[in-house]
Amino acid sequence: MNTIETYNFKGKRALIRVDFNVPLNEEFKITDTTRIDAALPTIRKILAGGGSAIVMSHLGRPKTGPENKFSLKHLLPYLNEKLGLTVKFADDCIGKTANDLAAGLKPGEVLLLENLRFYKEEEKGDVEFSKKLASLGDCYVNDAFGTAHRAHASTAIIAQFFPKDKLFGYLMDSEVASLKKVLSSGEHPFTAILGGAKVSGKIQIINHLIDKCDNLIIGGGMMFTFIKAMGGEVGSSLVEDDFIETAKKAIADAKAKGVNLLIPTDTVIADAFNNEANTKTVKTDQIPSGWMGLDIGPETAAKFEEVIMKSKIVLWNGPMGVFEMSSFEKGTKEVAMALTKATANGTYTLVGGGDSVAAINKYNLAKKVSYVSTGGGAMLEYIEGRELPGVAAIES
Ligand code: AMP
Repeated sequence: MNTIETYNFKGKRALIRVDFNVPLNEEFKITDTTRIDAALPTIRKILAGGGSAIVMSHLGRPKTGPENKFSLKHLLPYLNEKLGLTVKFADDCIGKTANDLAAGLKPGEVLLLENLRFYKEEEKGDVEFSKKLASLGDCYVNDAFGTAHRAHASTAIIAQFFPKDKLFGYLMDSEVASLKKVLSSGEHPFTAILGGAKVSGKIQIINHLIDKCDNLIIGGGMMFTFIKAMGGEVGSSLVEDDFIETAKKAIADAKAKGVNLLIPTDTVIADAFNNEANTKTVKTDQIPSGWMGLDIGPETAAKFEEVIMKSKIVLWNGPMGVFEMSSFEKGTKEVAMALTKATANGTYTLVGGGDSVAAINKYNLAKKVSYVSTGGGAMLEYIEGRELPGVAAIES
């Protein structure tokens, strides 16, 4: 397989799929540049290797055809500043202008193509559209982990036109390496921490991880479906009655497979879903009616820390409580802290999938864990055990 480190870009026009789906304010200024910043090392590497870069991405969810608010041209000032050059722009990602600009590109130059999703063919994975995009470049680099779970034209289908000249960019490379380290390295003990609101959204992850991990920690709103499945009193906590049987099955599976399933023993409860509500700490299976569990309790947090500290690999997805409210953030914060302590001790820690990333950033701890995944949906699908089309297209 080609790698970004060893591939010879000299004289080549590298077609790079990036995830520049950044938030813009009303003046079309970027309010969070994280996704662009994450792709810059790959672009710089191509230029430093004597190549030129044709950058393609989607932005937002345009409905039918071009819309100014979803135009990638709004990103040009930031790209120019970061790359220290004038990035060329094709106001249509295929067709004459794009072809001419791509053909005239010299080593060291960068061309940004207009939003791929201005064509419905992009999300449909249309082969003809992929072929037109492919004709712009000499090699294909996928650095868009955020869309790796989609079999779109530019993320997967296009790769067939570059059988010998396709590769991951740095971001894709590190995302895939981190997930493989966690799920396939075979290092133990492997602890998975799952939180968030609902069992329904996490059940495939639970089923897949039960076959792989030694400890499975359950927190967040979904713990109450488990507690109810075990016969506990959960008051008005978040429960999915349709998933009680699913929870029972997960409990039985964990037992049969020798997985240590850790369900919280104490919880911080509140008499209303707001930060100023009255609170107390009780046993998770003895929640009075009218009260709801909104965080794990101190006994549980201490137990989780103990297990995390003894692990070689830790995967964390989903907050332990309603961490957005200061009254119910302690459990999430303590788990985040435990991860940083374990990391300092040599444990490999991966945080990913939506709100756990928001949580680790809230506490400024992202640099103290081994890896924070940038791809919410893609990361979740990977840990559900599904093949990611964007990854498979390069690896096949
Ligand atoms: P998810 O997107 O499924 O990972 O869920 C994340 C959301 O779950 C966050 O917004 C949390 O506030 C919420 N959450 C965590 N714990 C609870 C809880 N005990 N009750 C209600 N919501 C919760």
